[in-house]
Amino acid sequence: MRIDILSAVPSLMQSFFEHSILQRAKDKGILEIHLHNIRDYATNKHKQIDDYQFGGGAGMVMMIEPILACIEMLQQQRSYDEIIYMTPDGALLEQKTVNTLSLKENLIILCGHYKGIDERLREHIVTKELSIGSYVLSGGELPAAVLVDAIGRLIPGVLGDETSALTDSFQDKLLAPPVYTRPADYKGWKIPDILLSGNDKLIEEWRYEQSVERTRKRRPDLLEND
Ligand code: SAH
Repeated sequence: MRIDILSAVPSLMQSFFEHSILQRAKDKGILEIHLHNIRDYATNKHKQIDDYQFGGGAGMVMMIEPILACIEMLQQQRSYDEIIYMTPDGALLEQKTVNTLSLKENLIILCGHYKGIDERLREHIVTKELSIGSYVLSGGELPAAVLVDAIGRLIPGVLGDETSALTDSFQDKLLAPPVYTRPADYKGWKIPDILLSGNDKLIEEWRYEQSVERTRKRRPDLLEND
């Protein structure tokens, strides 16, 4: 899989991608992440990528030309499954969207800044708009990193154990069960006996019950949906 990220400050994401689990994916050649500085595609001599908004008002708007120049350069080289714009008014990012995106070949992710990007790019170029939550950040870089991390860990070969991602929260519409590690008794804080029973079938049943119980208590909305 290949992901191209367009940003006005790509260095914000660099260290994250180099030090996260995604580096392993890159080393193994399973995932390519390319960061593009939108400023490199600015067409005027001041390297301008934003301008005042029509109609007046505070805040700059990211211009069409530099973003489109970068996207068109990429599209000349390969076709893209989605051009995603990270934006607080997009669809709320959910695990099922992440699952779907993890099966794609080539993705472009566009990070906004200031007041956001010119609306005409959203109308004519962007194919998907995603929000990471109902709050406003100053740029799309953290949201893009969140999305890429969520996608990357689902690609086979990225996590050490292939099945690990499948037992995490939100797969199967359930939260994950509680987990414990050594010591089995920490100053009187004991782990549930069942986990020491060695009976895989009973342990699996216990985990399932815990998942359902936890979901009912903390996120009943997950059980209600269809
Ligand atoms: N004026 C916009 C906010 C712009 S914030 C509005 O009120 O909706 C600047 C940029 O940060 C956005 O273009 C977007 O790329 C990013 N951003 C901010 N909050 C975000 C969120 N919750 N999810 C995804 N992207 C977000």
